[in-house]
Amino acid sequence: MKVPFVDLKRQYHSIKKEVDDGIGAVLENGQFILGKNVSAFEDEFAKYCGAGFGAGVASGTDALVLSLKALGIGQGDQVITVANTFVSTVDAIAHNGGTPVFVDSDETYTMDVRKIEQLINRKVKAIIPVHLFGHPVDMDPLLELAEKHDLFVIEDAAQAHGAEYKGRKVGSFGDCACFSFYPSKNLGAYGDGGLVVTGDPEINERIKLLRQYGEIEKNRHVLVGYNSRLDEIQAAVLRIKLKHLDKWISERRKNAAKYVEVLDDFSEVVLPSEKEYAKQVFHLFVIRLKERNEMQKWLSSKGVGVGIHYPTPVHLQKSYEYLKIGKGSLPLTERYAQEILSLPMFPELTGDEIEYVCEYIKGFLKREG
Ligand SMILES: *Cc1c(COP(=O)(O)O)cnc(C)c1O
Repeated sequence: MKVPFVDLKRQYHSIKKEVDDGIGAVLENGQFILGKNVSAFEDEFAKYCGAGFGAGVASGTDALVLSLKALGIGQGDQVITVANTFVSTVDAIAHNGGTPVFVDSDETYTMDVRKIEQLINRKVKAIIPVHLFGHPVDMDPLLELAEKHDLFVIEDAAQAHGAEYKGRKVGSFGDCACFSFYPSKNLGAYGDGGLVVTGDPEINERIKLLRQYGEIEKNRHVLVGYNSRLDEIQAAVLRIKLKHLDKWISERRKNAAKYVEVLDDFSEVVLPSEKEYAKQVFHLFVIRLKERNEMQKWLSSKGVGVGIHYPTPVHLQKSYEYLKIGKGSLPLTERYAQEILSLPMFPELTGDEIEYVCEYIKGFLKREG
């Protein structure tokens, strides 16, 4: 038996007819850029998040880059975020000429909001909390700080479509929030895609200008722009998939519960947390243990697809050497990077597959113990 880390084909087969028809309709229609599927999906997804407006863009990375740009963050500005994230959260800050400032992570692997205030100075303009692995950041204290110090909040919700904080969906807390529809995300396109949701019509307007050459009407350009659009084919696919998202989230949560039921007996393994304020959507199912490297090799040798998210925290990547933030500055982030392991997780994962993975995890732990 082999258990894939993720298998996108299973999901496609479960919605094949709808998707094939949806793509076919776009091909027949002949409008591929900024058509009715994009504007409908922008509204539908914003509504799903409980936010006012949506602007489709080419990727999650672009959603972040354009959000910072739309908020006027640039040269000399500092932006507080985490090093325990996908690198593009930080790239977006650097692309705008800003300087990333990192906060350590807490036991949920997301931003430790208790450590933000000590980093705030006059150059800090914004905070980017990342709802990593599908677990929301503790938003209330973060928003309180942002309000007190007059900082923008941009949620990086690329791994957290549908996740909730105190009963409210992520994406509705910040000045704006950024989503990715990279194929393996909880809501994934069949190609690249991204979206910015916001409650502020002006921010929405600016993102829409920036994504389309700064063009306000044909041949009239009011901002230095980009070409960064969600395309019609992807939007058509995403509209279809959005209808299934809540069911897929509940399947991810059921799969997580199955892992927990078996692995709970082993104190050597730290299981993913779900704080009382959180509805976690398990983009990834991340466990933590001392013998991570050995476990990774063992599971791989048994045909189990595993991953590490992320093996090198962003401040220790070569691309951020120039910041001169050495090892030891973010102790928990750095420690977690040595100990975390992502197990197979997707809605269509079967009970038998989870059992297979757990059997080998148990076997490894008993052998070690
Ligand atoms: C995937 C991801 C991004 C980037 O999204 P792309 O669509 O791949 O550009 C940004 N932040 C986080 C946390 C992500 O997981």
